[in-house]
Order: sequence, then structure tokens, then C-alpha cells
Amino acid sequence: MTTDTSKLIDGKAVAAKVLERCAAKVEKIKQATGKTPCLATVLVGDDPASETYVRMKGKRCEAVGMQSLRVEMSAETTTEQLLEKMNQLAIDAAVNGILLQHPVPSQIDERAAFEAIPVSKDVDGVTAGGLGEMWLGIERFGSCTPAGIMTLLREYNVKLEGLEACVIGRSPILGKPMAAMLCNANATVTICHSRTKDLGDVVRRADLIVAAVGRPNFVKGDWVKEGAIVIDAGYNPGNVGDVDFAAAEPRASLITPVPGGVGPMTIATLIDQTADAAAEQFGVSLD
Ligand code: NAP
Repeated sequence: MTTDTSKLIDGKAVAAKVLERCAAKVEKIKQATGKTPCLATVLVGDDPASETYVRMKGKRCEAVGMQSLRVEMSAETTTEQLLEKMNQLAIDAAVNGILLQHPVPSQIDERAAFEAIPVSKDVDGVTAGGLGEMWLGIERFGSCTPAGIMTLLREYNVKLEGLEACVIGRSPILGKPMAAMLCNANATVTICHSRTKDLGDVVRRADLIVAAVGRPNFVKGDWVKEGAIVIDAGYNPGNVGDVDFAAAEPRASLITPVPGGVGPMTIATLIDQTADAAAEQFGVSLD
């Protein structure tokens, strides 16, 4: 069966636009202050996937004229050692945004390490304060994947007000902030998780489905209401999403492919939010 490309949400194209706008922000900040915005990335351990993500983040920084400060720590790092490094970055005036690559090795208290990031530098939206701001509708930095999804929905002129939205997954970096953002945009939001009963029936009511589960092809085609918008945030081995794309696409009005849908938006949002953080810290208006 062939895909109707008019239904596809092109995350690569929207991410390129975000990065282009971000490069203009960076230039404006440099002109106004003589300073270069800087994102610090902290990688603990030697997980190959995490190394790739961190490298990609550094490359995107440089592509928009931003500086990237890479901090690497061994797999044996203790919570205390990581906190010491995080605290240094927190007060380093040359660092505008801090990203701690998730997951960290299991001996580390990841929550404590996240909380060492001041909200003003929390460009990845991982702190309790940052999540609180998202629920309160304070526009600062969103968790990057849901914030990137909101940008995609805006770019495709999706009117969220009054829509029945179903978010499958309730993680602190994806499902919960996604629900907050959709609620603040006046959608009616249902959050589903591993204890949800009759999941298919709940999902079938939705005008907008966000899948954030981490299980390949988990959302079945017959869970998708005719004309629903389907956002697949999942990224499983072999470039497979959380939605059974072939079965869902004929029923959807708009759908994100995997890869090339939500994925590219996450890094673009991180970089763009770092430029916003730098502007805020340096007192530069980007309007
Ligand atoms: P996570 O922390 O493992 O959370 C998964 C969520 O799915 C949990 O809330 C869990 O429910 C729920 N779940 C698991 N099994 C379920 C079931 N049978 N029925 C209903 N809900 C179920 O994962 P995450 O970090 O949010 O990531 C989710 C997916 O997004 C993964 O594929 C990940 O790779 C992808 N992701 C992509 C990007 C990107 O840039 N594109 C960024 C981050 C994550 P409980 O809370 O009840 O356990």
C-alpha cells in the first residue's frame, strides 16, 4: 500500500525552519552582547546511543553559531561527583543551558542531578520547577520532545481547542509535559499508562493521539478514529515507532512518520531554547 504524502507531518522540514530562526537569534545575541550562547552537555558513561545523541546536539549547536561545551564523565561516577560538576555549570556565567543526557548509570540519583540545574538554564525541561512552569502555562522552556510536537501542530495549523486528545505514556519528560501543554492549549486531555483499562476503547475516542510508550507498533490501526491526528513520539530499535504506521495512516488525517517526524524536532527545540535562555540571561530582546 502506498502512503498518502499529503498526510505526512514533515518533522525534518519544520526542524530546519526552527534551526534557521534560531541561527538568526544567535546572531542577534552576538551582535548585542559580543557573547556566544553556549549549551553544556553532560554525558556520564559510555552508552553508544547516548554518545551519538550528545554528538548530534553538539553539531547542531555549532551549525547555528552556538558554542557547545561537552562534559564527559566515567561510568563509575558517583552522585556526589556529578552534583559537583552540575553545580559548577549552574553558576558558570558562560553556560546558558545545561543538558544532562538521560539515562545516567544506575548508581546515580538522576533526579538529584537534574534538580541541580537552575530553572533558568533548564533548556531540556527536566527539573521539577520546569515541569511546574509547564503545568502553570508559564512560557519558558518546555521538555523538548513535547514542545517540539506543539511546534509541529502549530506549523500544520492544527486547532487544538476543544479537541479530544489522548496521550499514551506518562513519563516526566514526555507524557506528562505533553498533557500539560495540550491542556494549556484547551484540548481535553486523557492520559493513559500501563494500568489503563480498555486502552483501545479510550484511544478510539481521540481526535489527537500522542503515542509515547516505547513499544514498537503498539498503537493498532483500529484504535485510530477516522480523521484523527496521530503523533508518534516513539523511537524503538530499527527506526520503528510506537504506532503501526501502515495500519494507522489510511485512517489518519495527519500522521508523523518514524523516522523524520517527531525525532528531528527534539534537538531543534533544545538548541532553540538555549538561544532563548541566553537572550534571557544577557537581557537581549528577541522581538
Ligand atoms: P518511559 O519513561 O519508559 O515511559 C513509557 C510510558 O509508557 C510509561 O508511562 C508507561 O506507563 C507507558 N506504558 C508502558 N507500557 C504500556 C502499556 N502496555 N499500555 C499503556 N501504557 C504503557 O518512556 P519515555 O522516555 O517517555 O519514551 C517513550 C518513547 O518515546 C520511547 O520510544 C522513546 O524512545 C521515545 N522518545 C523519543 C524522543 C525523541 O526525540 N523522538 C525523546 C524521548 C523519548 P507506566 O507509567 O504505567 O509505567
